[in-house]
Amino acid sequence: MFNTLTERLSSTFKNLRGKGRLTQADIDATAREIRRALLDADVAVPAVREFIAHVKERALGEEVSEALNPGQQVVKIVQNELEEILGGETRNIQLAKNPPTVIMLVGLQGAGKTTLAGKLSKHLKQQGHTPLLVAADLQRPNAVKQLEVNGERAGVPVFAPHPGVSSEHEDPTGDPVEVARAGLEEAKTRQHDIVIIDTAGRLGVDQELMQQASDIRAATNPDEVLFVIDAMIGQDAVATAQAFNEGVGFTGVVLSKMDGDARGGAALSVKYITGKPIMFASTGEGLDDFEVFHPDRMASRILDMGDVLSLIEQAERTIDKSQAEKMAQKFVDQEDFTLEDFLDQMQQLKKMGSMKKMLMMMPGAQGMRQQLEQFDDSQVNRIEAIIRSMTPYERNVPKIINGSRRARIAAGSGVHVSEVNTLLERFREAQKMMKRMAAGGGIPGMPGMPG
Ligand code: GDP
Repeated sequence: MFNTLTERLSSTFKNLRGKGRLTQADIDATAREIRRALLDADVAVPAVREFIAHVKERALGEEVSEALNPGQQVVKIVQNELEEILGGETRNIQLAKNPPTVIMLVGLQGAGKTTLAGKLSKHLKQQGHTPLLVAADLQRPNAVKQLEVNGERAGVPVFAPHPGVSSEHEDPTGDPVEVARAGLEEAKTRQHDIVIIDTAGRLGVDQELMQQASDIRAATNPDEVLFVIDAMIGQDAVATAQAFNEGVGFTGVVLSKMDGDARGGAALSVKYITGKPIMFASTGEGLDDFEVFHPDRMASRILDMGDVLSLIEQAERTIDKSQAEKMAQKFVDQEDFTLEDFLDQMQQLKKMGSMKKMLMMMPGAQGMRQQLEQFDDSQVNRIEAIIRSMTPYERNVPKIINGSRRARIAAGSGVHVSEVNTLLERFREAQKMMKRMAAGGGIPGMPGMPG
């Protein structure tokens, strides 16, 4: 997701490199390129118009910072605007004063609601809640079964409308509104503090669907109605979001299939079009492929400045805590980042599975996308072999690794010297990025942007 947009923006900013000051013509040309890049990413036209107006206004305006060169200032302005268009602040689930908190999921069929229900329930459970899933999608054959499977995986009970379910309430009749209502009663009786109601979708927006969702909404009075939208549907996203906003109404958005190669238009348009924030992102078919949506972090990712915070959080979820802390410390502790740490990181990433997704959150990753896409565990093994062929002193003070040491290391690990060179080059880049990230405060700048 966003790959093309990232590349386009990055090349736009490259043209500003080395400029002492920006002329009106520079700003116009840059704005034009950004505009085209956004339109090509399927961002809704009015959203693009406003985005560009803001960028121009601010680039021409007062905000001249001594600390940043003109190119970096434009990057910073675009970063702020991206953050803004993605929703500004991170928005969490609004919990009800009197539990249970009711969360209802709406969206087209295939949008990813049932999958999301499982992910969200697991996420909330990990936060100490006791959710109940309610299967009110009686339209799609298998939807109930699918929710039950997801619930089981997440370790979260499912209230479903068929005999055999142990319920103190009457078995509902197959009417989704009744199922939702009975599910809510069940949650109250059994003291669940959160209820997640999965509802039916259709292939397209239609009146009956809207009516059913509205009826469930009226019957259960949810605290949150989350509209789940497939990020891959491109320009249709706007019309669909508008239809649901008017037909049922919702309080927040979940973007699903963010792992696909969607161009990003839905993400960048939906807040502008509906006024409702994106709250979560779904990034795969697995139960853990789920993120809280942080507009600021997403803006950094789009600009290829990395998203180390999400990387650390994902690490914390997937590996044990002491390891995660060790890794987090390495990001912060710039002094200590050695080849030994680099190797350690690689191995931990390998453990975390879905390796490419994680690596894409590293600063500058987009620039190495091609290599990353070819990245597999055997490459980690080669890196490991190379680093293992170094002496402890070499691992800790890599700059002493001269030509003859490189030859020895290559021979020792059975690779060509060029592979040793590439590894050292990448390590140096990573080390530089770590330093910039750890320094905090100012923006890290696009890779290669003179500071
Ligand atoms: P629903 O009809 O809205 O309940 O949609 P489902 O939850 O059944 O999802 C439809 C299909 O999309 C299923 O095959 C899911 O496995 C898949 N899916 C859902 N979310 C994601 C995601 O974030 N990434 C990918 N790659 N597939 C997803």
